[in-house]
Amino acid sequence: MHCRFVAAGILTFLSFSSAAMAGECAGNPDALGTSRVISLDPSELKLVGTIQYKQTLPLEDHEVVLTFDDGPIPPHTDKVLDALAAECVKATFFVVGEMATAHPAALQRAYREGHTIGTHTEHHARLDRLSADKAQKEISDGLASTAQALGDKNAVAPFFRFPYLDQTGAAEERAMHLGLSIWSADFHASDWTRINAEKVTALALQRLESKKKGILLLHDIHERTASAVPVLLRELKKRGYHVVHVVPASGAVAKIEEKPDAKTPEKTEQVAVAKLDENTQVKTEQAALTNPATDKPKQGMPVNLDHKNQKNAEGGWHTRIKRSRKVTASAKRSSFPNFFQALWQR
Ligand SMILES: [Zn+2]
Repeated sequence: MHCRFVAAGILTFLSFSSAAMAGECAGNPDALGTSRVISLDPSELKLVGTIQYKQTLPLEDHEVVLTFDDGPIPPHTDKVLDALAAECVKATFFVVGEMATAHPAALQRAYREGHTIGTHTEHHARLDRLSADKAQKEISDGLASTAQALGDKNAVAPFFRFPYLDQTGAAEERAMHLGLSIWSADFHASDWTRINAEKVTALALQRLESKKKGILLLHDIHERTASAVPVLLRELKKRGYHVVHVVPASGAVAKIEEKPDAKTPEKTEQVAVAKLDENTQVKTEQAALTNPATDKPKQGMPVNLDHKNQKNAEGGWHTRIKRSRKVTASAKRSSFPNFFQALWQR
């Protein structure tokens, strides 16, 4: 395999030919593949994504980074993982802590298959409406729940995305203090709106073609998105795009404090995560497989997600996670703050 190593400023780029990667894709010699891996050090590159920030990842023309928010949730996350596996493409998942707790098997599969696992708060909270302390708790709890579901703190990448992209300076500071790199995106596909899979694919391609490169934001909790991904990946291949995978730089970890009620997930089998490449410096990790029987939402946890489009002050976009009234009733008996109860009732 042809490898070239280029140390450029604050980032280390590790590249290898997509043809070689695709050639290694079992059962799919024409796979899109993952063209190269970027190791990102949050202490150096703290904010990425031109939707909100001046800078983004150092991508070249026709390079795209795939990101999926708000999961995990079966069967949609699994369908997305199937599509990524079929094309040997690696992505980054920004998971919600309570979703990770409810569906650890889907999360463990994503990690086991080599994807990067970032976080997206504990309850998909609007951090711009919370005090800095409460915002930090949302971020910290999301990290802790994700680590707990994976059974390994080191399995959680120090990459964070604000729900609704609703950041505040204070919350950004807190997040960065936890060692996190904050990810916005460069474009999205409006996949939280009530459009069909074909439209999701069309919008993703249209917006990518206009920028020629960047971070694509999608949501793996939607059937429309799960159905769009296989077609999207084929189109990326046809149009000469390359997928870049972003991983934490060696030694870059978030500060994760165990939650007081943390329980060790049941481990039934130890499986080694496949190395992407000897030269990627991605450590082989031991991922804990959980008994599928435990992959059930805990009592009172949300199982039905309904997303509504909501414009923010900047004319931007939001995805709202809404619980059913039945779940809301049980939530009222929970210890969650009134804010979340109010959110759930909308
Ligand atoms: Zn979200």
